[in-house]
Amino acid sequence: MNKQKTLVFVGGHPDDETFGLGGTLAQYASAGVKVYYVSATRGEVGTISPELLKGGKSPGDVRWAELECAAKTLGLAGVIHLGYRDSGMPGSDDNRHPQALAAALLTEVTARLVKIFRELKPEVVITFDPIGGYHHPDHIAIHKATVEAFRAAADPNQYPEAGAPYQPQKLYFSVFPRGLLKAAVKILPLFGQDPRRFGKNKDVDLNKLTEIEFPIHAIIRLNKKAAETRDKAAQCYVSQNESRPPSTGMMGLIARFFGRRDSYMRAYPHPDGRRETDLFQGTR
Ligand SMILES: [Zn+2]
Repeated sequence: MNKQKTLVFVGGHPDDETFGLGGTLAQYASAGVKVYYVSATRGEVGTISPELLKGGKSPGDVRWAELECAAKTLGLAGVIHLGYRDSGMPGSDDNRHPQALAAALLTEVTARLVKIFRELKPEVVITFDPIGGYHHPDHIAIHKATVEAFRAAADPNQYPEAGAPYQPQKLYFSVFPRGLLKAAVKILPLFGQDPRRFGKNKDVDLNKLTEIEFPIHAIIRLNKKAAETRDKAAQCYVSQNESRPPSTGMMGLIARFFGRRDSYMRAYPHPDGRRETDLFQGTR
């Protein structure tokens, strides 16, 4: 009998697990894999309408509740808050908050992740690409810490207080396919949107993103149910979807370009030139 496999996605905020790779997470969860989302922050910096903050709720409370709704929809085995605060985009004051992820020591974030890897024992770990998808400081910080933690988790001399050594087998970076980004850059102006000022906060330059290309080593083809589950989970994010149509939140539009396949760059083990269709391929 095959033992139950475990996948951990390490992200920055509530909604990172849904917009982008939510289909992959849903598909593995429904196939019996224990899928966990480790969110660095509770999304404290998000702009949220006063309507949703009634009853004294903070933006972080609202977004964490949305995350719990999405996690349930996606079939996740659990959601873990890494204990940091949302940093906002480069230059914002939120970057200097004492609990801001972007201001945290890399070794401290790494230690927390090493502990989680050693406890959950995932075969597969996923995080952002080296530019954090779209240069978000939290995404970049969490990328660095995840890479470090993946390396350190099996070393008994590193972070001995974080539990017994354990080596996750594969590490992937979630990647926006550049072809789709280039298409988005061409299509968005037709909808009256500026690709250089994309997203809810108009702080994402899609044009600049097309200049950096990451190799694709694995493509997960989503079945219909997984794609539908991802779209259903996206509906949990009322606070991210309430901005003007047709852009449903930060990555909503891109998510639609993604359609039925998610792309990944394999960081470990070193790619061998073959393109994978299953992130657990070759795991023991
Ligand atoms: Zn994020």
